[in-house]
Amino acid sequence: MMEHEQVEIGADIKSAIESAQEKYLRDKSHRDKWRSIRASGIGDPCPRRIYYMMTEGDLDPISTDLVAIFQEGVDQEPGVRRYLSELGFELLKSQVTASWQELGISGSIDGILEYQGKQMIAEIKTVSPYAWEKLQTIGDFNEGYYKKWYAQIQTYMVLHGIEDAIFILKSKEAKKIRIVPVKLDYDYAESLLKKAEAVRDAVVKHEPPDFLKDNIVECKRCPFFQKLCNPPMDYGEVIPNVEDEELNAKVKEHELLHPSAIRYNALHKEIAESFDGIREAICGDFIIKSKLGVRHMKAQEERDVETVTVKIEKLTEESSD
Ligand code: SF4
Repeated sequence: MMEHEQVEIGADIKSAIESAQEKYLRDKSHRDKWRSIRASGIGDPCPRRIYYMMTEGDLDPISTDLVAIFQEGVDQEPGVRRYLSELGFELLKSQVTASWQELGISGSIDGILEYQGKQMIAEIKTVSPYAWEKLQTIGDFNEGYYKKWYAQIQTYMVLHGIEDAIFILKSKEAKKIRIVPVKLDYDYAESLLKKAEAVRDAVVKHEPPDFLKDNIVECKRCPFFQKLCNPPMDYGEVIPNVEDEELNAKVKEHELLHPSAIRYNALHKEIAESFDGIREAICGDFIIKSKLGVRHMKAQEERDVETVTVKIEKLTEESSD
């Protein structure tokens, strides 16, 4: 076969498989209305959003990148069961969907594990390297997305009448699992059931629950924001707890990069000054080049321009009082 034919067939197969993948992921990106309150969503801080998920369905299809991440988790689950079995532990009642109609809740547990005569709910979660590092004990599930996992497992425990559970965390990167034990927290589980009842009643009455208070950040990332839901926007107050894992990770990364950015700028300035007027120089493994240029600045009228300066500082005990 000629070289150009090989290139063409390569381009064809690449396009055929990758378009099929795009279609496969797109087909899974639409989320239907919830027929009942899902245990996986009951930990949502906004009951009004749960109401809209049930009455309208998600307005924004999720991105195909996100679908690909979820799907990888789904595909890895059978492997986790096999691995547990190789280790001598069998999950019973896997993927049993149960619904509690009087509360309007449904959910399917990943399994029940029997150990030393006790039954415990088992919930498998395949996790990113970031979550693998972060989630060591149950106390690490108290923020962002993981809070919903905590609410989900508490809901299963209270509804199945089982007081113990385990998260089986599976690293997406390696054949490694971590077990995080969980105890039933009656008060918290009870509050989740009350939330479910309030949403169920709101759906029957066609009256959405109240807006989420004091959390503009959460509202701004909500699919219903300014489409179906227009919460009062009060930017004057401090938002006490932004439960957004992605934003939280960005702020943490910003904190980590900050010193190196300062150091980078200082070093760059020092190096540039040392090589001032030199067109090109080799320094160790690096080549340093200077280029003269002219930047044309348009004359501007004198005027007042509103500016906003964002300062990101690490919280200390003193500042969080
Ligand atoms: S916009 Fe805010 S109040 Fe409205 S549903 Fe979304 S999170 Fe809740």
